[in-house]
Amino acid sequence: MRLAIYPGSFDPITNGHLDVIERACRLFDELIVAVALNDQKHATTLFSIDERLAILREACRENRKVRVAKLDGLLVNFARANEACAIVRGLRAVSDFEFEFQMALMNRKMEPDIETIFMMPKEDYTYLSSRIVKEIARLGGNVEAFVPTYVVKALRQKFVK
Ligand code: ADP
Repeated sequence: MRLAIYPGSFDPITNGHLDVIERACRLFDELIVAVALNDQKHATTLFSIDERLAILREACRENRKVRVAKLDGLLVNFARANEACAIVRGLRAVSDFEFEFQMALMNRKMEPDIETIFMMPKEDYTYLSSRIVKEIARLGGNVEAFVPTYVVKALRQKFVK
């Protein structure tokens, strides 16, 4: 039984995240998608923790390998408590590398038995980020190509004037 954790803010989930989830499910028996309460990269989020959990549960409803959970506290402690063998992260471009490299090595220092696995999304999603999707939606642009339909609706509700 090989279990991995895919942590992130998922504010909101994009097709890029979903692509990584699908790829990870080919490698592991179970995947916990762990939604961070807040982190260093995002002090504040557009969607509350409960909204992000609900959106993720909807997104992963048909994937029986996925469990969605709240991540409160240190990732390695959460991974150890769940007997995970790996942490999954997505890598889009060189810009992701430095932060991810540092996190992976720090996590290994704290928990040498848990490997960090980096997955590259489909090329179409390499330019996609939650931040850019929120910016387009905020300015009234169409984000249908980047996120699932219910996320389009959720974004619309956030930005209605
Ligand atoms: P974080 O707050 O850790 O950056 P995100 O929710 O932005 O969390 O993303 C979680 C993980 O998914 C990170 O490893 C990030 O690099 C990755 N990720 C985000 N968007 C994409 C994408 N379009 N393609 C592949 N990986 C992605």
